[in-house]
Amino acid sequence: ASAFAARTRRISPSASNVASQKAREASAAGRSILNLTVGEPDFETPDHIKQAATDAIWAGQTRYTRADGTPEMKDAVAQKFRRENGLVFAANEITVGCGAKHTIFNAFLATVDDGDEVVIPSPYWGTYPEMVRLAGGMPVIVPTDEASGFKITPAQLEEALTERTRWLVINSPGNPAGGTYSKAELEALADVLERFPRAWVLSDDIYEHILYDGRPFATFAADVPAFAHRTYTVNGVSKAYCMTGWRIGFGAGPRALITEIAKIQSQSTSNPCTISQAAAIAALNGPQDHVFAHRDEFARRRTLMLEGLSGIPGLSVAAPEGAFYVFPGVAALLGRSAPGGGTIANDVDVVAHFLDHGVASVPGSAYGAPDHVRLSFAASDETLREGCRRIAAACEALS
Ligand code: PLP
Repeated sequence: ASAFAARTRRISPSASNVASQKAREASAAGRSILNLTVGEPDFETPDHIKQAATDAIWAGQTRYTRADGTPEMKDAVAQKFRRENGLVFAANEITVGCGAKHTIFNAFLATVDDGDEVVIPSPYWGTYPEMVRLAGGMPVIVPTDEASGFKITPAQLEEALTERTRWLVINSPGNPAGGTYSKAELEALADVLERFPRAWVLSDDIYEHILYDGRPFATFAADVPAFAHRTYTVNGVSKAYCMTGWRIGFGAGPRALITEIAKIQSQSTSNPCTISQAAAIAALNGPQDHVFAHRDEFARRRTLMLEGLSGIPGLSVAAPEGAFYVFPGVAALLGRSAPGGGTIANDVDVVAHFLDHGVASVPGSAYGAPDHVRLSFAASDETLREGCRRIAAACEALS
């Protein structure tokens, strides 16, 4: 018998953390490793946001507050939703947590009973299924591919839904493949969901502002208003404002759900860090020009990355519509032999082979999509150029 609870055996540690750890170990052993596993912007948090945090410390914002966000923070979130998404939420329809991750976890804890199902299109952010399992539920994975733009189709959704479905998770733009749903695509999914009133939509909008080619951003609550009463919209400051370490995210949705989430939060973490909330208020209410400057910078790097990867034999590369990853297919590399002997049997072997050539990446199986690798372009031009050269050399070394 294990000394630990059964729920610890239902889940695994984050695969991208494992990949980053391997990269660090190889670097520590003196090897030149270019790290393309990174899941966060490489820009510094803007100065006016840091200043707001310092000011909050000296203004004595150092004590407990409401468990699910200060009134000022909820107000900043309400204004964000109104300004950017045309969505109107009252304070009791908003929750603020320690990252988008935390607000998603709370929502699953609040709604998922043993055996309840959560539909998750793959490739997915590896945390969703593990959170569902922690909550006692069953992830129902629906595979998508490059041909469908890495998006679930209405027919696939129809097939996946049952009387036990609690949630459909939509992450657009998506990590890791950058797939992005249009308003029409969301409406088509809603037509199917209509017949399953127990199924709600969890819309993870964390990459809202990292969207390319002038594509309009679509989100369920705003673009399918008839569904707003069944939608939980999650967003945060990590990616848009380069604040991953500050740990502030938020969710908005039906008041009854928000009330249950507040109860869970009040008996677990209590309020998210007051200083980080003050910083997040400055981020949401302050100047937004750097958000667009960073997006343009990511767009430029995306081009650089796509050029660097184009023509590499064995890689199938689609341009991501959003977020800061490319997710090439590597099926054509499987079955080939590495120079030192040994066959490349799967995506984990591809990642190990790339690491031998000095590039750290994450295997697609971590995202429920084996036969792919995730390469982040939240890195310098030089790292990306040289990274692509090394990947090309690694692919060419296989016979
Ligand atoms: N959702 C997705 C799809 C992500 O990729 C990430 C971070 O990698 C998060 C949520 C977590 O964001 P936060 O830092 O707000 O917890």
